[in-house]
Amino acid sequence: MKALVWHGTTDIRCDSVPDPQIEHPRDAIIKVTSCAICGSDLHLYDHFMPGMKSGDIMGHETMGEVVEVGAESKGRLKVGDRVVIPFTIICGECDQCKRGNFSVCERTNRNGHIAAKAFGHTTAGLFGYTHLTGGYPGGQAEYLRVPFADATHIKVPDGIPDEKLLFLSDIFPTGWQAAVQCDIQPTDTVAIWGCGPVGQMTIRSAILLGAKQVIAIDRVPERLAMAEAGGAITINFDEESVIERLNELTNGRGPEKCIDAVGMEAHATATIDSMYDRVKQATMMETDRPHVLREMAYVCRPAGTLSIPGVYGGLLDKIPFGAIMNKGLTIRTGQTHVNRWTDDLLRRIEDGQIDPSFVITHTVSLDEGPDMYKVFRDKQDGCIKVVIKP
Ligand code: NAD
Ligand code: ZN
Ligand code: ZN
Repeated sequence: MKALVWHGTTDIRCDSVPDPQIEHPRDAIIKVTSCAICGSDLHLYDHFMPGMKSGDIMGHETMGEVVEVGAESKGRLKVGDRVVIPFTIICGECDQCKRGNFSVCERTNRNGHIAAKAFGHTTAGLFGYTHLTGGYPGGQAEYLRVPFADATHIKVPDGIPDEKLLFLSDIFPTGWQAAVQCDIQPTDTVAIWGCGPVGQMTIRSAILLGAKQVIAIDRVPERLAMAEAGGAITINFDEESVIERLNELTNGRGPEKCIDAVGMEAHATATIDSMYDRVKQATMMETDRPHVLREMAYVCRPAGTLSIPGVYGGLLDKIPFGAIMNKGLTIRTGQTHVNRWTDDLLRRIEDGQIDPSFVITHTVSLDEGPDMYKVFRDKQDGCIKVVIKP
C-alpha cells in the first residue's frame, strides 16, 4: 500500500510499504477513506520530539471502513462498519480507562514506557507518533491496523460526509476538552493563543459552552479571519501587545481562562540559533516574543485557569512557576481523552450545532501529502487544515 513515511527532519515521503496484517486477536484493519495532518505531526516533521525512526508511518486522524476483524474484536466490530479512529489507543479495561482517563491508558504503550518514563512523557499508545508513545504505524495510508480495536474505535452512522466526522479523531475533542477543563462560567473571558485547527475548535467550543467573551490570538490573517467568523475578538500578536490588549478587554483584570493551543511552535517562531538561545528565549524579559505559557501565566486573572492542549516535549519547556503559585492558578493539560467526549460531540454534529468541516482548506491525495506538510507548517496558500483522501 501507499503511506506517508518519516525519513528525517522535514523529510516525509509517499512510499510503498507492506499492507498491515492482524497481529493480535483484538486488532482490526480499516481501509482509510479520509485522514488529516495535525499540528502534532508538525512537531515530528520539525523533529522537536525525540523517538522517531526512519520508516515510521505518519498520521493519527483517520477514519474508514472495517475490512478485517480479529477474533476477540468480533463482538463489537464487524466488516463493513464505518469508524473514526481516535489518536489514542485504549484498552478500555485498565484503571485509567475505567476512570475515563483514556490518554494515559496503562496497557497500550508498553513498548514505549521505558523511554517515555525517562523523559516523564508517559501516555497511552498513540498512532503515528514517536516510539515514546509505542511507535504504532499511523493512518496517513491506504490501510491502518487498529490495536485494541474493540475499545479503540468510534462507530459513526452512514449518511454524514467524512469531512464532518473525521475530526472526532482528535482536534474537535481536543478543542472541546481544552474548553471544558476551564469550567467556563457565563461571566468568563476566555483567551485562546493559536488559531490553528485546534485553536479554531477551541474557540467554537468555548462559545458553545457559554463564555461571555472569547479572544483569539495569532498573526496569520486567514486564521484570525476564521476566528472572527466563529465569534472571537482577535489580536494579531505581530501588530499589538497581547498583554496590553487583553487587559484593555477585561477592565485591567486579565482573562479568567487562558488556553494555549500553540504548543512547541512558540519555540519555532522565535529566532533560534542554538539550544542556548532556545532556553534563553523562554525568559520573557530577554526576548521580543514571550513564550505563550509565560504570557498566559502573566496575564491570567488571579484564581484563574490555564488550559494547555498545546503539546510540549523534550527539555525546553520552562514554566513561570512564581506567577502560577502566587496567583493560585489552576493548570489543566494533557493529551485528549478522545472517547470521553465523542458520544456528546457526535450528537452535536448530528443536531447541526456544529459542523467541524469549516476548518478544511485543502483536500489532496496521498502523493501530494509530503508537499502539504510544508504548506501547512509554513501557512502557505491560506492553509488551515489538510484532509488526505488515500
Ligand atoms: P498549528 O501549528 O496549525 O497552529 C498553531 C498556531 O499557533 C498557528 O496558527 C501559529 O501562527 C500560532 N502561534 C505561533 N506562535 C504564537 C504565539 N506566540 N502566540 C499566539 N499564536 C501563536 O497547530 P494545531 O493543529 O492547531 O495544533 C496546535 C497545538 O495543539 C499543537 O501543539 C498540537 O501538537 C497540539 N495538539 C494537542 C492535542 C492534545 O491531545 N492535547 C491534540 C491535537 C493537537
Ligand atoms: Zn493531533
Ligand atoms: Zn486502558
